[in-house]
Amino acid sequence: MKKVIYVDNNATTKVAPEVFEAMKPFLTDEYGNPSSMHTFGGKVAKYIEQAREAIADLLGASDPSEIIFTSGGTESDNTAIMSTLRSYPDKKHIITTKVEHSAVLNLCHYLETIGYRVTYLGVNSEGLIDINELKSAIDQDTAVISIMYANNETGVIFPIEEIAEIARIRGVVFHTDAVQAVGKIPFKLTELPVDLLSLSGHKLHAPKGIGALYVRKGTRFTPLVIGGHQEHGRRGGTENVAGIVGLGVACQLAKQAMGEERTRIKALRDKLERAILEKIPHTRINGHPQYRLPNTTNIGFEFIEGEAILLMLDEKGICASSGSACTSGSLTPSHVLKAMGVPFTFIQGSIRFSLSRYNSEEDIDYIIKNLPPIIARLREISPYGKERVS
Ligand code: PLP
Repeated sequence: MKKVIYVDNNATTKVAPEVFEAMKPFLTDEYGNPSSMHTFGGKVAKYIEQAREAIADLLGASDPSEIIFTSGGTESDNTAIMSTLRSYPDKKHIITTKVEHSAVLNLCHYLETIGYRVTYLGVNSEGLIDINELKSAIDQDTAVISIMYANNETGVIFPIEEIAEIARIRGVVFHTDAVQAVGKIPFKLTELPVDLLSLSGHKLHAPKGIGALYVRKGTRFTPLVIGGHQEHGRRGGTENVAGIVGLGVACQLAKQAMGEERTRIKALRDKLERAILEKIPHTRINGHPQYRLPNTTNIGFEFIEGEAILLMLDEKGICASSGSACTSGSLTPSHVLKAMGVPFTFIQGSIRFSLSRYNSEEDIDYIIKNLPPIIARLREISPYGKERVS
């Protein structure tokens, strides 16, 4: 089989073998419905509660009942924002940033079409918002502030404690999309005044299609998915028992890996970054050098196309991703890098490497060996690259 070096963990992660093992019984023998009256089904319910406890523990939440299971990050984000808007029907203003994931941005774009007003805060060249701009954007009409914990493309970490404190003082509900932060950086919700927080299983070695929303006790809540009485009427639909159990185990593993593993992953990321900057001219790091997830680096290679780099990396079995998406045949630069004002000559050639605990030193050495000739070759054949770089 072709060698695969997977460094695209902000897109999705490998299901941990321990997670898979824990899920198996619920896809085979233990297939009962947790809402059933009979023992066969009913006994499954306790595993859901165990998973809820594991998630609350990782997040440092004060009570497991603050966790609602969802289908993933997108549903959690939608639920958080829609719930707040429906709970405060007189308020029609939302504050978010220009660099959110489409799960928040596209919802906000939709909400604008039905009469809501949205403030999209800009970011500076390091990817951070201006706190004074946030303060002055809040008014009597603001229902919710939704700002991500960490950016999926650059790994930039927002000052969530400071932002949450401002929201609390001004009496506005605060939601954070923590899909990229959970399991990568430690925090404690008993000390962080966040009202609502989204997470997604497949970003932390649980399967796709399972996630959770943290709802602080006392926060007004109106369900998005209306149906059965599951999740105490806060999210209808028969529970994804196997996914929930998997997410619980993934959270336990993430907590264990938070110390030494995190340091190891950061050291690998730093080694990769240093080697690239040293060996390849005309490169830059996109994002704040310090306030960044330990596993992520977004690197701009001047004068070339990210898609071309990705294709050549793919030939070598290296899975990374670019900041730009190919939309209807035209190359649209990443909205995140655009908002940061990344220079035009770098923006198209920006690549994200995102590591996980399954990456080894050999993986990094392999990338360091293979990337420089790829960049050199592409610059040679690029109409802009050759004359500028040689
Ligand atoms: N929010 C962020 C920051 C993400 O990175 C993602 C996934 O890429 C999502 C939300 C969406 O999560 P899901 O794929 O579980 O719906």
